[in-house]
Amino acid sequence: MTNRRTIRTMCPMSCHPTLCGMLVDVEDGRLLSVSGDKDNPDSRGFLCMRGQAAHEIIGNPKRLLHPLVRERRTEDAWREATWDEALDLIAARMRAVGREAVGLWAGHGLFANNYGTRVGAHLLRRFANFYGCQWWSPTIICWGLGAFGIGLTGALEVNTKEDMGAHSQLIVLWGANLASQPNTGPHLVAARRRGAYVITIDVRETEAAGQSDEILQIRPGTDAALALALMHIIIGEGHQDREFVARHTVGFDALAEHVKACSPAWAAAITGIAEERIVALARRYVSTRPAMILIGGSSMHKGINGWQGGRAIACLPALTGNLGIPGGGLGPRHGARTHGQDLNNDILALDRRPPGRYVPDQMSRITEALLDGRVRALLLAGTDMLSSFAEAGRVAEGLGRCELVVSHDLFMHDTARRFADVVLPSTSWLEDVGCKSTNTHLYLMDKALEPPGETRPLTWILRQLAPRLGLPADFYPWASDDGPLDAILDHPSTGRATVAALRAEGGIRALRISHVAHPDVRFDTPSGKIELYSERARALALPPLPVFEPLGASRYPLAFRQGRTLTQFHGFYDHGRALPTLAKADPEPRLWISQADAKARRLGDGVPIRIFNERGELRARALVTPRIRAGTVWMRDGWEGLNELTSGRACIPDEAVGLFPFAAGQAAFDAMVEVEAV
Ligand code: SF4
Repeated sequence: MTNRRTIRTMCPMSCHPTLCGMLVDVEDGRLLSVSGDKDNPDSRGFLCMRGQAAHEIIGNPKRLLHPLVRERRTEDAWREATWDEALDLIAARMRAVGREAVGLWAGHGLFANNYGTRVGAHLLRRFANFYGCQWWSPTIICWGLGAFGIGLTGALEVNTKEDMGAHSQLIVLWGANLASQPNTGPHLVAARRRGAYVITIDVRETEAAGQSDEILQIRPGTDAALALALMHIIIGEGHQDREFVARHTVGFDALAEHVKACSPAWAAAITGIAEERIVALARRYVSTRPAMILIGGSSMHKGINGWQGGRAIACLPALTGNLGIPGGGLGPRHGARTHGQDLNNDILALDRRPPGRYVPDQMSRITEALLDGRVRALLLAGTDMLSSFAEAGRVAEGLGRCELVVSHDLFMHDTARRFADVVLPSTSWLEDVGCKSTNTHLYLMDKALEPPGETRPLTWILRQLAPRLGLPADFYPWASDDGPLDAILDHPSTGRATVAALRAEGGIRALRISHVAHPDVRFDTPSGKIELYSERARALALPPLPVFEPLGASRYPLAFRQGRTLTQFHGFYDHGRALPTLAKADPEPRLWISQADAKARRLGDGVPIRIFNERGELRARALVTPRIRAGTVWMRDGWEGLNELTSGRACIPDEAVGLFPFAAGQAAFDAMVEVEAV
C-alpha cells in the first residue's frame, strides 16, 4: 500500500508582497507534483511559472548533496568531506582570523520557507550577536533604501491589496510591477471593474501595462522630480487638503515655498514626460478619491538618489488627505507592513552583542572591508553574492583576498565556483519546518520530505558551529526546531500562534491587522506627523525637504536599469540554469533597447551585443522593442556579470543606514552604459 499525502506549503521564491500558497503531493517520500493552493486567501490557487518550476529543485541532479572542500580555488580541486571535517575547518579558520574579521551574509535563499517570519535570518543574527562577528542586514540589497525615503516622510505602513480592490478609485503603480506582485493583479482587475482608473509610471512598459488605463514612461532616477512637480501643481492650484495638512503634517509652508521652482516644464525636461501629462496626472490625483499609490519595492530605488523618490512620493497622499482612509495612502510594497503586523524579535539577543569594530550595514563599506582585510572569512547563506552586490568586480577582488569563503546553498553558483573554499549542501523549502507571513496571514510550511543526501538547514549548521567556537549553551535554548518559530510568533498580531496551533488549524491563520494603514493617523516620525520637512534628515546632513538630485554626468549615453520578470527570480538556482523550465524560458541575458537606440547603433533584434562602461562589460543579446524609451536600456536582474556594470557608491551616510529598524545601506546600483554589436 502506498502512502500518498497532500501537504500545504508555500512557494519557496517569496516575491513579497506576493507569497503564493502551494500544495505538494508526496508518495512514499517522493514528490509527485506541486500545484496552487485554492484555499490560500492571498493567492487563491495562483502559482506562476517560477513557482511551478520549484518542482524541479527536488531530485535535481545538480543539487548539492554533500559538504565539499578544496585546498586551492580551481574547479578540479573539490572533494567530498564529512560534516565534521567541514565544520572543524570552518571553525578553525574563523578562530584564526578573529571574530571581528568574520562576516555573515545571507540572501533571499535563506527565506525560502520563512519569508515574513525570518527565523533563519534571526538565528543567523543571534549567532553573530553571541559570537561578536560582522552581520549585515539583507534589506540593504533590496527594499531598505526606498523605505528609508518613505520613512523620513513617515508613511511606512501600507493598505492591503484587498482594500485597494474594494475601495480605491485611482491606483498609481509607481515603479510597482505585477511581475513582483502578481497577487495584486486580481484586486487591480476588481478595482477596474468598479470603474477605478489605473496609471503606471515606470521606466519601461511592464507587465502591469495590460492592466493600466495610462502609462507614463519616465527617465530612470527622476521620480522625485515628477513628485515635486505634482506638489507644485497641487499646492499652486490650492488643491491641498487644508485640514489634514494642518493637523497631521509638519513643514507645509517650507515645502510650499520649496516646490514653487518645480514647475511642470522643469519636471518635463528632467523626466521626459510631457508637461501637459504631468498637469493632468496632478489634477486627476487630487480630484479622484480615494487614490492609492503603489511605490515600487526595490528596482526603482536603485540609483545614487534612490531614496529621494520614495521620500517625495510619500508626501503626495499627505497633501491630499489620502492617509488613514480605505482605498487611499500607499499600497502593497516589498518589505512593508500593515498596521498591527509585527513579531517578537527577542530571539535576536541584541543585548548579547559584545563591543567590536563593526562594519556598518552599508554595501560599499562591506566591499571595502573585504578589500582592506578587515573581513577575512565570509559565511554566505542562500546567496550568490557576486550576482547581487553592486560593482561586482571589486567584490570579486575582495572575495579573492578572503582566507575563507563558505557557501551554504542548494546549487553551485558563480560565487561558490570562483571563491568558495567550503560548500555546504542546504535543505530545500520542503525539507524542514517553516512559516511565512504575508501582510494579512500566517502560513505554516510543514516538513514534507526527508532531506536528501547530507543536506542540512542553516539552523543545524549554526548549532554545530556554536560549541566549536565556544558560544554559551543558551545560544540555542530550544528543545526542537519549532522552538525558535514559536518564540518569533509569540506576538499579539499572530494571536500568539505556535507551530502546533497552526498545524491543528490547517496551517493558515489571519493576522490581527488593519487593512488600512495608519488608521490612528499616527506616523513613523519623531513628531508622529507626516514630516514634509524632516529634522531627522537635516541632522544626518541630508536635505530636509524632498529634492531631486540628478545622477552625475557620464560619457556613456544609456541609462541601464534592472528588474524582475515572470520567468526567473534574481540569480536563484544558478541563474535559473539548474531548473530546466526556467533555463528554457529565459536562456540568456537580453537587453531591452529602443528602436531609435538600436538603429543608431545598427543593432538588429536578437543580435549578440556587448554592454560596457568604465567598470566592466556584459555580453547579451539585443531585444529591440517599442516598450522602452530612447536613452534607457533594461535587463532582468540576477544575470552573471550584470552587476560588474553597476555603481557600488554609498547613497546615504553611514550614520543614516540604521535610522529605522531596517537597514538602508544600499549601494547606488545605477549605471550608464554603451552598447555595440559583437
Ligand atoms: S509569484 Fe510565482 S514565484 Fe512569486 S511567490 Fe508566487 S508562485 Fe512563487
